[in-house]
Amino acid sequence: MTVLRSGSASDVGRVRTVNEDRVLESPTLFAVADGMGGHAGGEVAASIAIDSLQAGFSRSQTLDGLTEAVEEANRAVWERGVGDQALRGMGTTVVAAALVATDEGDRLALANVGDSRAYRFHDGELLQLSVDHSVAEELVARGELSQAEADIHPHRHILTRALGITPEVEADVWEIVPLAGDRYLLCSDGLSNEVTVDVIAGVLSSVPDPRAAAETLVALANEAGGNDNITTIVVDVLVGETDPATNGAPPTATAEQPSDLTGAVALADIRDASTTPTGGPATATGGPATAVGAKAIEAPGEPSVDAAPRPRKVKGPRRVTFRVLLFLVVLGALAYGAYYLIKVYVGDSYFVGLKGNQLVIYQGRPGGFLGLEPKIVSRTGVTTAQVGSLVVPALRSGVQEPTRTAATRYVSHLVEAQCSLQSPPPSCTAATTTTTTTIPTTTVAGTA
Ligand code: MG
Repeated sequence: MTVLRSGSASDVGRVRTVNEDRVLESPTLFAVADGMGGHAGGEVAASIAIDSLQAGFSRSQTLDGLTEAVEEANRAVWERGVGDQALRGMGTTVVAAALVATDEGDRLALANVGDSRAYRFHDGELLQLSVDHSVAEELVARGELSQAEADIHPHRHILTRALGITPEVEADVWEIVPLAGDRYLLCSDGLSNEVTVDVIAGVLSSVPDPRAAAETLVALANEAGGNDNITTIVVDVLVGETDPATNGAPPTATAEQPSDLTGAVALADIRDASTTPTGGPATATGGPATAVGAKAIEAPGEPSVDAAPRPRKVKGPRRVTFRVLLFLVVLGALAYGAYYLIKVYVGDSYFVGLKGNQLVIYQGRPGGFLGLEPKIVSRTGVTTAQVGSLVVPALRSGVQEPTRTAATRYVSHLVEAQCSLQSPPPSCTAATTTTTTTIPTTTVAGTA
């Protein structure tokens, strides 16, 4: 007999305008999804993943059931992405923990795809259970990078696996014996990028209520910068097994590591392209995440008591007076001002897209904006063959970047990430041919 108690919190953070994280907190299934993709893609991908995961797991509450539920969630996100031009290239991470019954007793089944994380807090120590599916962590797994180097590696946020990018995906899955007194933490990278494991351990050791602990972690991530959406779930094992000798090993010992990294994805920071930085205040929220930006539709009201038609004065023929002229001048100035602002807005926007099979940098908005078509400002000379096939759908939709320099850097990162995954790493040149800008030539043979 196992008894769990949980609490969660999710917040947009201090930089993003939209919360693309989703959280699932039910009596036996807990999950965090961190969506990514232009337009509304991130929110849609994360929501589909969570809904599909819950539906799939409810049919078979076992480790295999959870594994299949993750695979179904992947397919659901992928099918929606390929069927909708506006959502093409969207994806999401997912990390899930579920209470399942086995012949040996209750177990916690865990599953992970992407760089959201699962931690176990046991006997005063915090242990990261999941392994990030990022370029940097894959290099650590191959012994080519130390963990300390991976923590500051420029490619640590470039994912090699996510839901919705390909029709099939392999999740890391494992089982753990739920020990009484243990606490589990699931979180998006908005937490793990902002606070250290010592800080997390400090909160888990000092805040007994799981929801209060989840909210405290979110608040600390915001204090540290809140550069991303932040989501946390804390799950306490109130009643569980007591024999530590039977406890399961962390996933590094049980989960299969990818053997073939050729063609691994450089999903890159697609999530960064989908939101606009603002300085707006963050609000901590507990409980399951709700859709952000949902519109309230005003109910049709009763007609006003004085809405009855009134007699009108009949006026004589109009003359062009000074007031009419003034009105026309103000109207013209406003129209010009609006046009000018739109031009500035479009002119200050950049995205990486495709021209044929070449990556090019556009100025403007993907698909155009109010009749202003995007224009190519740089032909990078990089082809889709150099960046891995899985990032191509996102490029086809246009990956927005805040500046032209950032767009250039993004292309370089894609090339470096793809190069660094080839064994042995070749000497890679990011680009040579441009019209106006040259992507810095980068050799990555020494980065491993
Ligand atoms: Mg995130």
